[in-house]
Amino acid sequence: MIPAPDPAELRPVLDRLRRLVSCETPSYDSEALAAGLALMRAELAADGLAVAPADSRLEAAGAVLARSDRGGALTGPPILILGHLDTVHPVGELATNPWRIEGNRAFGPGILDMKGGIVLALEALRRAGPDLARPVEIVITSDEEIGSPRSRGLIEARAKAAACVLVPEPARDNGGLVVGRHAILRYALSATGRPAHAGRDPGRGVSAIHRLARAIVALEGRSVPGASLSVGVIGGGRWVNCVPERAAAEMLCVAADEAGRAGIQGIVAGETDGRLTADLVGERPLWRTGAGDRALYDAAQTVAAALGVTVSPEVSGGGSDGNFTGALGVPTLDGLGPCGAGLHAHDEHLDLASLGPRVAVMANLLVRVGHAETRD
Ligand SMILES: [Zn+2]
Repeated sequence: MIPAPDPAELRPVLDRLRRLVSCETPSYDSEALAAGLALMRAELAADGLAVAPADSRLEAAGAVLARSDRGGALTGPPILILGHLDTVHPVGELATNPWRIEGNRAFGPGILDMKGGIVLALEALRRAGPDLARPVEIVITSDEEIGSPRSRGLIEARAKAAACVLVPEPARDNGGLVVGRHAILRYALSATGRPAHAGRDPGRGVSAIHRLARAIVALEGRSVPGASLSVGVIGGGRWVNCVPERAAAEMLCVAADEAGRAGIQGIVAGETDGRLTADLVGERPLWRTGAGDRALYDAAQTVAAALGVTVSPEVSGGGSDGNFTGALGVPTLDGLGPCGAGLHAHDEHLDLASLGPRVAVMANLLVRVGHAETRD
């Protein structure tokens, strides 16, 4: 067994985490992402990994790809590690939630989701390196928080060529690992009205904002356990003295099963009319736990038990790129990252005590699934 590193051994890991967190990478900021991906390339190269040149395919996907195969000595379908560098935090969030260590917690934007997971995986790979029986491939993307529109094709292609997929997204609150995820649907809502002078002729106009607001209340009101509808972005109107002609919103829907997914699609279709459209602009398929996922979990559970780390198999309502690979039927295990709290919030932090033990779980898992024939 590869033992858990002690706190002193984790100092270089925290240095790397500080570098990644200090380089802010919101999904919508292409300049910031380019800097982040360049830093990521340098970090991977510093670990002796073979970093793929940034060709047109990787550029289009906004991703970095690297490989560890002991100079070509390891062959066969690789273990694929999936990570994302983008965060939901705008540049400047560091002023609100600066990089710092307070007691047993490390703070910073994106530290848990999922820069902490990336550094955890790299440290696990470094420790597992000499014992690996299979190549390991790492794909780091930069659009996960907006539904992975650019990177989905690359992720699915690399997953189909892989033996299995490990995703170091944050652990569940109880330290659990993720063996399934709900389906996610992203809708663009658009309302159209009729302009008029808001002061002189309000009766002549039709307010797009009013139509959209009614739709939001109606749609969110149809949420039930296992099938939720939630608007997170809204905008509309240009002049306060005009009855607004246009308004738009973005809605995220989460379904625990196919029936819930169909139900949501029916609800959305029922709300649309000549003044309100709803376009499905992004989707994460339902990842239902398969036998391969379960076998990967069992392997992780075995090494975790030997290390004295408690894990459990969980199904998550939040999406990740594991949805794509799990839904494809490629054995996938997610939630392998560190524990912590405050995801997507101003106090996002990582529980430092979880870092070493979970590095060891992932390192031993990399060795173990390399020897067990998961998929050839
Ligand atoms: Zn994430």
